[in-house]
Amino acid sequence: MKKKLEGQIAIVTGASSGIGAGCAKELAKNGATVVLNYPFEGAKEAAEQVVAEIIEEGGIASSSQCDVSKEADVIAMFADTVAKYGTVDILINNAGLQKDAKFTEMTLDQWNTVIGINLTGQFLCAREAIKEFLRRGVVEGVSKSAGKIICMSSVHEVIPWAGHANYAASKGGVMLMMKTIAQEFAPKKIRVNSICPGAIATPINHDAWDTPSHLEKLLTLIPEKRIGLPEDIGKAAVWLCSDDSDYVNGTSLFVDGGMTLYPGFEGNG
Ligand code: NAD
Repeated sequence: MKKKLEGQIAIVTGASSGIGAGCAKELAKNGATVVLNYPFEGAKEAAEQVVAEIIEEGGIASSSQCDVSKEADVIAMFADTVAKYGTVDILINNAGLQKDAKFTEMTLDQWNTVIGINLTGQFLCAREAIKEFLRRGVVEGVSKSAGKIICMSSVHEVIPWAGHANYAASKGGVMLMMKTIAQEFAPKKIRVNSICPGAIATPINHDAWDTPSHLEKLLTLIPEKRIGLPEDIGKAAVWLCSDDSDYVNGTSLFVDGGMTLYPGFEGNG
């Protein structure tokens, strides 16, 4: 039986760890050829390790260095991928980071770094992906769409987060960028959606779950009473990239164990 994403080429940004690595593995399991992006030389080994795991499992993958906040890097990564594999069908716009600070102490550099990677990086990658989707159009037998983009947003596109104004602003920005480009390109059979993870155990939030007391505090925010795993997000990404979700466009899919359900009201408020 044909796998859901067979014959499709996917770029996953920030794929050397955490959610990006989880998405890359799930996409590959479902037949996609995956390009795992990493930002700098120091992350190459980790990216290559994930590539090796995918190949070991029978998948097809390679790695590509690119700082998603740099326009020339992003253009080159897409050009290289098209030269190597013929096209790009799927973009998982995942790369992101935090530079936390109290608002009055937040430096312009902390603000610009987070906006530059989390928001401008997603803009640059989405723009190059859409140019390629428009060039190629729909290919019968591959997918009903000309292309799919998943923007990795966060529950913080709707939950304000004191001490993280740059991060919350970047994810709020991702939400309206995603919806705007979904509206603009739906007539061209391009689908753009977001996944909004809650708390997923990855290096980005290590401090929130690395000790039993930290984890216990975190779990008070999660009605399902468990921290999420990268594969929870990877599985949602596979569905959003497959034709099973062909009529889903411009949506934020919250994968958060109920974090956005106002858990403070659990015990009658
Ligand atoms: P992570 O730190 O494991 O992954 C982030 C990845 O982005 C890393 O691999 C890093 O190398 C890469 N990256 C950083 N700067 C880059 C750049 N300039 N160019 C290319 N890649 C770059 O953390 P994660 O939790 O897997 O985060 C992945 C995404 O999920 C982020 O966008 C994050 O905001 C989002 N997210 C995570 C959680 C969570 O609980 N872990 C919750 C909501 C949203």
